[in-house]
Amino acid sequence: MPVGDIDVLAGLDGIPDGLAEEATELALIDHHVHGCFADPIDRATFEEAFNEGSPDPIPSFMTQFDSQPGFAFRRWCAPLLGLERHAAADDYWAARAALSPAELDRRLLARAGVEHWVMDTGFNTRAITGPAEMAAESGGATSEIVRLEAVAESLLAARPGAGAVASDFPEDFRAAVADAAGRAKGFKTVVAYRTGFDIDWTPPSDADVSAAVARWQASEEAVPRLVDPVLESFVVHTAVATRLPLQVHVGLGDRDLDLHRTNPMLLLPLLRRPGVRGTAIMLLHCYPYHREAGYLAQAFDDVYFDVGLGVNYVGAQSRQLIAESLELAPFAKQLYSSDGFGLPELHLLGAVLWRRGMAEVMGRWVAADEWSEADARRILRLIGVGNARRVYDL
Ligand SMILES: [Zn+2]
Repeated sequence: MPVGDIDVLAGLDGIPDGLAEEATELALIDHHVHGCFADPIDRATFEEAFNEGSPDPIPSFMTQFDSQPGFAFRRWCAPLLGLERHAAADDYWAARAALSPAELDRRLLARAGVEHWVMDTGFNTRAITGPAEMAAESGGATSEIVRLEAVAESLLAARPGAGAVASDFPEDFRAAVADAAGRAKGFKTVVAYRTGFDIDWTPPSDADVSAAVARWQASEEAVPRLVDPVLESFVVHTAVATRLPLQVHVGLGDRDLDLHRTNPMLLLPLLRRPGVRGTAIMLLHCYPYHREAGYLAQAFDDVYFDVGLGVNYVGAQSRQLIAESLELAPFAKQLYSSDGFGLPELHLLGAVLWRRGMAEVMGRWVAADEWSEADARRILRLIGVGNARRVYDL
């Protein structure tokens, strides 16, 4: 999986040759990622797509290009669009707008050097490419992660107003999860967005679940949206019982979520439950709570984490984020992800910045003789590929 013509370690000095080669050429598993925009987008949509926190248009007094990801696009992606490094924002946009979405994907995705994309297919604010298109445009394999809230909402939407839904829901949901477990590599919950983590994690009885569904139906929302803490606890425990990995959105997201209620330490009552032990709990993104996530990965055998998303959003500062991710957590408990969504720039940049950050941080330790080069190469492979292959059975 060639990273091809990008000199991903450009400007970094003193990285031992073997580590540099490994960091440049390692074929990665991106364990949490989404598809790319299937249709052409305008500049406003483009700029909004690399502001994670705000759901609003970018204010007229600024451009989102003036941000860490904006600078990183102009540095790392501009040459792939036929421009000089650090091309001006207007030139970048003009070159990008001249290419079809499929052509952009072809130019950018393969150069991430990802051999396997583990895709979250449950969130489509607009048309997004699916696993088959991602595989065709990148040359990598794909697997699917099923979003629990989407499964529950589709059960309700499929039978609007039917009185039997509430009483049948626990059994119907268990059947839907069992069915999904046959084709997916894991599940994902966005409880961070819906209630926050500070809810009662006692597994509810079927009667309690049915009563919560009845309340949900009575709310008469046009689009059913699962926001009930009883139902969140139910869908999470149902997925955990399959023993497939459960991905949990943690930390940074748009302001729909209360960031302070997505600190993973608030998951302690869930993680301590005997029924949860034995299922891999994958804490996604975690920024700015990556140090808390690292602690939990040390404290619980089945807790893993990544710093995807954060790496893209802090750009040139990502080596510090990566260094902090390599503090407490055992190296067997960390994974690579880009969390690319919509813009193939994000899928590429996640890989470029991760390769640079890992090489620079570990290269410094090798240069100081604190680590051997062989160990650095081994840990790079573990976090970039091996842990994901083991946990998801790829
Ligand atoms: Zn995501």
